[in-house]
Amino acid sequence: MTNARYDAVLRRATQRALEYLGRLDSSAVGATATLHELRERLAKPIPVNSADPVDVIDQLVKDVEGGLHDSAGGRFFGWVIGGAVPAAVAADWLTSTWDQNSGMFAVAPAASVVEEVCGAWLIELLNLPRSSSFALVTGCQMAHVTCLAAARSAVLARHNWDVEKQGLFGAPEIRVVTADLRHGTIERALRVLGMGSDCIVDIPVNEHGLSQESLATALSETRDSPTIVLLQAGDLNTGAFDPFEAVIPVARKYDAWVHVDGAFGLWAAASPQHRHLVAGIEKADSWATDGHKWLNVPYDCGYAFVADRDAHYRAFGHKASYLSHSDEARDPVDWNPEYSRRGRGFATYAAIASLGRSGIERIVSDCCAHASAIVAGAEDIPNAEVLSRPIINQGLIRFLDPRASATPSDHDRRTEDVTRRIVSSGEAFFSCTTWQGMRCMRVSVSGWQTNATDVLRTIAAIRAAEFESRNDLT
Ligand SMILES: *Cc1c(COP(=O)(O)O)cnc(C)c1O
Repeated sequence: MTNARYDAVLRRATQRALEYLGRLDSSAVGATATLHELRERLAKPIPVNSADPVDVIDQLVKDVEGGLHDSAGGRFFGWVIGGAVPAAVAADWLTSTWDQNSGMFAVAPAASVVEEVCGAWLIELLNLPRSSSFALVTGCQMAHVTCLAAARSAVLARHNWDVEKQGLFGAPEIRVVTADLRHGTIERALRVLGMGSDCIVDIPVNEHGLSQESLATALSETRDSPTIVLLQAGDLNTGAFDPFEAVIPVARKYDAWVHVDGAFGLWAAASPQHRHLVAGIEKADSWATDGHKWLNVPYDCGYAFVADRDAHYRAFGHKASYLSHSDEARDPVDWNPEYSRRGRGFATYAAIASLGRSGIERIVSDCCAHASAIVAGAEDIPNAEVLSRPIINQGLIRFLDPRASATPSDHDRRTEDVTRRIVSSGEAFFSCTTWQGMRCMRVSVSGWQTNATDVLRTIAAIRAAEFESRNDLT
């Protein structure tokens, strides 16, 4: 028996979803509709009358046509955007259907237990201290906010300051010591948490990440301040890892809190081949990562882990008379920045249940192998210069302007031009970045669907784009 009010529209949505997924191999990977076209189609006056939900869905599908990047497919290599594995997509649909307000066990019992299990599973998969507390948040950005709120509480408590009660007015100034190459979400988290970007002490890094010596120097200069050290597992451009085993003990010596940005890189722990890159990471105090990138869970899904449960609870623990708090169960509200929230655990649970350890390991190691294959293939293309070979799933390539008179900005322009041509061919999608002052095309492989055929099609598309771009040089 089905509910007639939902029947037709959910069936139609299923049909549209399957049509979309079925076209991924043949449709253009990048969006083809312009901003103007999308606005023209979508910005309609608010309808006066109600409409049939089936018509609404059909119209929506029609109006967004060409405005979707096919990151669900196998040839999307822009930014770091994973696809979504089938079980997780299906669980995500059910999450909306069940519509649980997942802040409390009393309000959403199954959602709360599912999250509890996800937390334990993730801690095991990522090899973090088993007693860590955790939160399922919207993404790594909010995982930083969550972890750094706990960090703020702990480092100020060491200076006899209760930030939850006294706030930051008049508090000892916190210093955040970190590499100069870091993700912009760190600054944003510090802004939100009232610490501001001026609290950052930059350390220049080389290709081996932060060095023991430079960290020790920076920390000896901030020794009287409450201090947070921020390390990286997976640099956004090169995928590089800080040497955790060497630098975490240095931070410890200075009584600093160590937070790790491992948005995608933390998943190296799931692959025996890459696990050495995160050796010693379990000695940190907090870790932020994503489900929606490398685990291939639909957006939005990030994870925060904190070794010091008390600090984490101090930052977010919440009691209110009208809520039914549980003594035994885990109430997500006590660990999360949100209040009412989506039952975000279901998709993660389904992803891990369907992939298993071996499936997760395969996604990580296959993505790394495909990234290396694309970069190696591009190396044979005229005027392509490999700037960074993948350590994990990220590589950097640029395209040189072959003219004798070419300047650095000509190389930058050429790199952008080749990248744009690859995207307009519809065969593959890449985005550009600036690394060490040079524009480069970033190769980022994080979707489970990418296979050897995709790699070959992609290399052919890069070659064709470079050729066309060269022919158009005047
Ligand atoms: C993507 C990313 C983030 C931000 O994560 P969101 O899930 O987009 O909030 C932070 N750090 C690094 C290294 C990233 O790649």
